[in-house]
Amino acid sequence: MVQWLQCNDEADLEVLRKRADAVRSAQVGDDVHLRGLVELSNICARDCLYCGIRAGNASVARYRMSREEVVACARLAVDFGFGTLVLQAGEDPGLTGAVVADLIKAIKQETDLAITLSLGERDLEDLTAWRQAGADRYLLRFETSNRELFRYIHPPRVGQPERDRIEHLGLLRSLGYEVGSGVMIGIPGQSYDDLAQDIELFKGLGLDMIGVGPYIPHQDTPLGKSGGVPLLGVEQQVPNTLVMGLKVVALTRITCPQVNIPSTTALATLDRQTGREQGLNWGANIIMPNLTPVQYRRMYEIYPSKAASTETAEQSRDTALRQIVGLGRVPGRGRGDSKHFQTLNSFKNN
Ligand code: SAM
Repeated sequence: MVQWLQCNDEADLEVLRKRADAVRSAQVGDDVHLRGLVELSNICARDCLYCGIRAGNASVARYRMSREEVVACARLAVDFGFGTLVLQAGEDPGLTGAVVADLIKAIKQETDLAITLSLGERDLEDLTAWRQAGADRYLLRFETSNRELFRYIHPPRVGQPERDRIEHLGLLRSLGYEVGSGVMIGIPGQSYDDLAQDIELFKGLGLDMIGVGPYIPHQDTPLGKSGGVPLLGVEQQVPNTLVMGLKVVALTRITCPQVNIPSTTALATLDRQTGREQGLNWGANIIMPNLTPVQYRRMYEIYPSKAASTETAEQSRDTALRQIVGLGRVPGRGRGDSKHFQTLNSFKNN
């Protein structure tokens, strides 16, 4: 794994890409499923050292979308033919158990959309209530399997005990969610060994969805300001480049053949022309067009110059469809549930 991560030979990398693309085609087919992304709040109680919407960043204007605004996005997702709505936010104390459960019920009452939540580390009570209200999936990246580095870049919430994200993923699974996780690539202090361990851990956790993307420094964060803490020599430090992101997508596809893998916004941000298509060519099978109303988009600046931050929802959809068709792939129909999850459950039921 480390050798592949360190490989820079173009011919060898093309072998890796082709292998990942063949596994993708054989295991999850040519459908590219579209998940409508709604960034419903940039209010966050945490102070992650890498993230532009961290609590300590006073230069961000904060917002939380209303119930009606989110339901309008759900209607748009249905009109666009999407099968899933992804609700993502900072760890916003205003998004209480009851508020989110009510939102989930309102969307489920009107639509057949699958609902994916990505609302950070929440307690058992909230996660149970949301599952009961109808939420289908949960995304929580463990960010890096290097525990020391994780603790450094992701300090515990003030007044709350430290939570273990890996344990949290087990909790989500036990509640019946389809479970997604992932990492950032090229975090200062992340070694090639760490990244290889991350991919091994994806397999060990039996995930349904895996999202990976290069770490992009934000000037208003401690990690971005310092230009990164020089913890490792150049030989060991993973670079936060597009090609490294693509290698990780390919190795993830080969290691976890049936998972759903998005071609992430971070890849598209590093190369606006081809980043997203390249993700799809290196093993990804999901795109998450952004449905967040334009007036909020710029405020959800987890890193600078985020791709599609000024596009309308229609433009995001049209770009995604053009990219899919241009690659000879097919826009997915229906919810696009995880094949891995279905296989797991059919084993359990027999
Ligand atoms: N609060 C939730 C959580 O932490 O899971 C969801 C929102 S959080 C902004 C979503 C993801 O953004 C994180 O899991 C992290 O990997 C990614 N992210 C944040 N800052 C980033 C940066 N500077 N570069 C790349 N990805 C970043």
